[in-house]
Amino acid sequence: MKYLDEFNDPQLARRLLDEIRATVTRPWALMEVCGGQTHSIIRHGIDQLLPEEVELIHGPGCPVCVTPLECIDKALEIAARPDVIFCSFGDMLRVPGTDRDLFRVRGAGGDVRVVYSPLDALQLARRHPDKQVVFFAIGFETTAPANAMAVHQAKRLGLANFTLLVSHVRVPPAIEAIMTAPACRVQGFLAAGHVCSVMGMAEYPELAERHRVPVVVTGFEPLDILEGIRRTVGQLERGEHRVENAYARAVRADGNPAAIRMIEEVFEVTDRNWRGIGRIPGSGWRLSEAYRDFDAEHRFDVTGIRTEEPAECRAGEVLQGLIKPTDCAAFGTSCTPRTPLGATMVSSEGACAAYYLYRRMSEPALPREEMNPVG
Ligand code: SF4
Repeated sequence: MKYLDEFNDPQLARRLLDEIRATVTRPWALMEVCGGQTHSIIRHGIDQLLPEEVELIHGPGCPVCVTPLECIDKALEIAARPDVIFCSFGDMLRVPGTDRDLFRVRGAGGDVRVVYSPLDALQLARRHPDKQVVFFAIGFETTAPANAMAVHQAKRLGLANFTLLVSHVRVPPAIEAIMTAPACRVQGFLAAGHVCSVMGMAEYPELAERHRVPVVVTGFEPLDILEGIRRTVGQLERGEHRVENAYARAVRADGNPAAIRMIEEVFEVTDRNWRGIGRIPGSGWRLSEAYRDFDAEHRFDVTGIRTEEPAECRAGEVLQGLIKPTDCAAFGTSCTPRTPLGATMVSSEGACAAYYLYRRMSEPALPREEMNPVG
């Protein structure tokens, strides 16, 4: 397939691996930020092909995985109301809340619908003026522009029955939190190419300089990832810590200015809890004051929610790169994609799901709507 096969070429992959082997002289630990990159690495066995000096640590860039439990529980409570049509990307339906998931709410009669765009939810709101339509607006910088556009349109149309339940997160504060954690072993980052295609690269030079860590903007195909690793290892061996763009076919230095303007029009930066990790200052977006009427948390009274994570789930350590999924005792036993204890086993970008799907292969693939990536 044109534009994809070129980035899977085995001969070019061997050449890049040879260059990495020829460059590396000592151990380095690199973090791929995005869960999509983690899946590509595990699926293609890239971590097993690298010289043993190069370790890949899986980062927290899985939007479904880091959506906080209290937000999932709020979604469950809103979705169960009889006057609500609750819309979400497919991944979120199986994510366990404290005592159920959105599939169970749907099974109990809740009107929970999988959509492929927030604009689909907007159309539902126009078609069902007697219902409150709520869209579960989660994700990183990649999904924020379309979500911002949906609520911008809703305001322009004067729709009084459309709201977002917002749990947006931002990558640069997460990198800051990773680098300042006492147990941090990360020496270089493969930054998420799709995030940078929206936001550009302006937020990274200061981080790279202050933490003296190379940041290489990297894509998702096998050759993209090997090229990102080659450049990061090269910088580390030379004692450099620069921001480089290894995904120039999709990323411009200034990103997508129209998308950034739309985000800034609708959202404002806020502190955000990351599931399994905790509160990271300035790491999220919420609707700004001008759009507060479209905030589902304000429209529905969902305060007083008490949450409880399963004690055996170690997803927080997985998301911080402190352990591999296979280090969790529940992996593949009490926790599988069909019986997930944590969100990292559910999501199409979750590290636990990646290890299960590509290193065990013992369960049939999940239905397509359950594996819809939200970026
Ligand atoms: S394998 Fe399951 S229980 Fe263990 S960390 Fe991953 S999601 Fe949590």
